[in-house]
This record gives sequence, structure tokens and C-alpha cells, in this order.
Amino acid sequence: MKTIRMDEMNWVDIKQAIKDGFKTVIIGVGSTEQHGPYLPTQTDALIADVMVNLIAQKLENALQAQTIRVGCSDHHLPFPGTISLKKATLKAIIRDYVESLQRHGFENIIFIPSHGGNFNPIKEVIEEVQEKYPNIKIFGFTDLMAFVEAGDKIAAEFNITKEEAGAHAGEVETSQMLTLAENLVEKVRFQPGYLGVLGEEEIEMVFKKGMPSLTDIGVIGDPTKASKEHGKIYIEKMVEFLLDEIKKGI
Ligand SMILES: [Zn+2]
Repeated sequence: MKTIRMDEMNWVDIKQAIKDGFKTVIIGVGSTEQHGPYLPTQTDALIADVMVNLIAQKLENALQAQTIRVGCSDHHLPFPGTISLKKATLKAIIRDYVESLQRHGFENIIFIPSHGGNFNPIKEVIEEVQEKYPNIKIFGFTDLMAFVEAGDKIAAEFNITKEEAGAHAGEVETSQMLTLAENLVEKVRFQPGYLGVLGEEEIEMVFKKGMPSLTDIGVIGDPTKASKEHGKIYIEKMVEFLLDEIKKGI
């Protein structure tokens, strides 16, 4: 097949692919939100789209449906350009994706969020739709802590601390974006953001009061050691990690 992206395919070829055994469909769930003064607002959407494409290729029996490019980003709204869905809206979109795709013969429908704010709504709605469609498997990777820890572990191999790796626009995401869309990265503006403790208390504060309560530039982490070489490996290893989780989950 020329492509596994359904938005580049026609219905005839999609129908044939499903008949030929492509019974899994996978969808990235990103965001459109500020990522500091140097990364574009599409950062999470692009990363989700690319990682899901690689995962689908490795699964060998999967098609990729259109990435959901906007997510739950209320805590980033003080920064211009952020577009945020309410939790109920994102859940409704996921529900409608499932309602649509379950008609076509897929046996597995998989959602992969790349953005922290999407994990909980996805978890909640998947429990609900799974009950409605017991004959197919609907899976979402919704373990945010495991996702963050996996990224930190890969960064540690490059001697990047977990504070530098960062939860938002830090060394990890910046490296990934240097690999995927270097032309959109404003390197001259690289500067460290919040590098303090990021425990439950801080995370709760960010969700309640917004990112400016922790960082006035919208960054948790430090991009200054970011590189294309790191980014390529972060993407490859995160894809391996997610692939394992998917295989466990379906
Ligand atoms: Zn991000």
C-alpha cells in the first residue's frame, strides 16, 4: 500500500485494506497550545501524528485515522494561540470517532494522546464506549505517569535530568521538534523555564490556576541541550514503548 493514512486513501482502498486484515485503526490525540517562546502551537499535534504513523506501520495490520489536533488545554489559555476543548467536547469527539469507525469492520480502535490534559478524558470516555461496543476492543493509552517516566528514562541516557527533560517544551519535546520541523523552532529564544519540584501539588496548581502560576514563559524544563540527534531517538524509543503498551492492551 502507498499509505496507511486513511485521509490520503479512498473508500475503495480502505474497504479492501480492512478486508485484507487491516483490522486496527489508530488515532493520535494532540493539542493546539503554546509551547514556550520557541516551539509552535502544533507541537503536540505533530508529535502525535508522527508517532502514531510509525506505530501503525510497525503494527503491520493498522490504518491511521485523522489525528485529533486540538485537546484539553485550559491551563495554557493565558497564552495567545492556544485553542482548548472542554473535557466534554473531547469526549464527544472520541465517541463520534468510535461511532463512525466501528461501522467499517475494525476490530481494534486505539487512541494515543501526546498531551497530558487529554489522558483523563480519554480514559473516562473509553470505559463508556467500550461498554457500548463489547464486540470490538477500544483501547487508549492513558497512563500519564508511565508516559512521563518513559520519556525521562530515555533522556537520562543522554545525561539530561528529568527537570531539564521537562513536562512541557523542555529538552525532550524541543529535541523532537528539531527532528520533525526545525524550521518552526526559534532557537535564539531558547531559555530554561520552571526547573523546580514537579509533584502532585505543583501539577494541581497548574491545572487549577494555569501555567503562569509556575512559569511566565510557559515552559517546564530546559531546551538548551536539545538536539536533532536526541529527538530522533526520543521518537523511536517512545514509539517502541507505546507499541509494547498497545500490545499489552489489545
Ligand atoms: Zn507538548
